[in-house]
Amino acid sequence: MSGLPFLPFPLVLAAPSGAGKTTLARLLVEGSADFTFSVSATTRPPRPGERDAVDYHFVDRQVFETMAAGGELVEWAEVHGELYGTPRRELDGAAELGRHVVLDIDVQGARQIRRQVPEALLLYVLPPSVEALVSRLSGRGTEGPAQVAHRLQTALGELRAATEFDHVVVNDDLDGCLGEIRGIVEAERRRAARARDLESRLEEMREAIVGLLQDEYAT
Ligand code: 5GP
Repeated sequence: MSGLPFLPFPLVLAAPSGAGKTTLARLLVEGSADFTFSVSATTRPPRPGERDAVDYHFVDRQVFETMAAGGELVEWAEVHGELYGTPRRELDGAAELGRHVVLDIDVQGARQIRRQVPEALLLYVLPPSVEALVSRLSGRGTEGPAQVAHRLQTALGELRAATEFDHVVVNDDLDGCLGEIRGIVEAERRRAARARDLESRLEEMREAIVGLLQDEYAT
């Protein structure tokens, strides 16, 4: 990515469960010097294949509540009966690296990030259709019919929140959707308000032009 040096901003991805946002978040970060993944803390037990400190920081309720009470979480919410939260250090670490931190969180968390981190970019991922959503939810193999029903119920509320987001993308094709997200971030970086030291750069240019007008182009 090119352009003026910019202040890296967090990228929040929210979507109804089954829209493919976790896959998108992972692909965005994989092998990228621009993005890093925010590893959330959760009280949910690991699914097969999930690794501690990579997919989530798996903690018990007591540890989670201590983290929340100590101000270690920039946002947190209860989702499907479990607690999930974004450790503040995930955001600080990414800022130090000069990277965008990608937050794969629910809409309650996204709303808190909007208030706490106003420079964050909020992106909503829509599934291409309800059929695709149901097929992805049941196809995971880790969820029974009752859990699928629970997640669909949650999706009803989550879909209502989509209009609060800065951008909406439809995940009908993974590569296409990734390209769209990268394009949105690239365009956001070019916002004047996000450019680092823009005032001093403009001042330098103005001084140089004034110099030229007084010297080479003096009339
Ligand atoms: P799952 O258990 O399927 O990994 O995640 C369930 C939901 O919790 C997903 O919508 C996921 O994005 C959300 N989630 C994951 N981490 C966080 C977090 O740190 N904060 C909030 N608010 N939601 C999260």
